[in-house]
Amino acid sequence: MRLLKTARRAACSFFLAISVLLGAMMVVNCGWYVRWDAGTSVWSLSTGAMHFGRQPARYSMPGLRVGGSAAAFHWLPGYKDLAASYGPGTSAIWIPYWMPMIAAIVIAGLIRRAEQSTLRREARASCVKCGYLRAGFADEAVCPECGAAPIAKRCSAFKGRAREGPPLS
Ligand SMILES: [Zn+2]
Repeated sequence: MRLLKTARRAACSFFLAISVLLGAMMVVNCGWYVRWDAGTSVWSLSTGAMHFGRQPARYSMPGLRVGGSAAAFHWLPGYKDLAASYGPGTSAIWIPYWMPMIAAIVIAGLIRRAEQSTLRREARASCVKCGYLRAGFADEAVCPECGAAPIAKRCSAFKGRAREGPPLS
């Protein structure tokens, strides 16, 4: 159980870090680009998006390039067949950073929600007096740690006074 908690917390932090990184890249990427030319494949980070392109070998200038860019932002994902301009096999596909950024935030949120529901479940199953985890014990069994009566039993004793809420101790 502790391992699951640690793993969840780590995963949650990981996805939050990814979303922050993507957000920072989106802002920083306004004025520059990084481009990796690997022959007929080209990867680049520019104009607020991740790009992947295919090009004929004769256009290739292999290597990593960093430079300034004044091109317009890509807010939407897209695909462009550039065969008409650069010859067969030339195309580009791009995904704006905000899409994986939102996906990372949603995943982190879902993990957090799962974590909270586990905590709530544990709190419900815990002794109200000492916090001992009662999971596995019968509902009517007294707390093996401090001997306190289970909350279910106490609540029934207060039936009709439910508006006042359960007793605190
Ligand atoms: Zn107890």
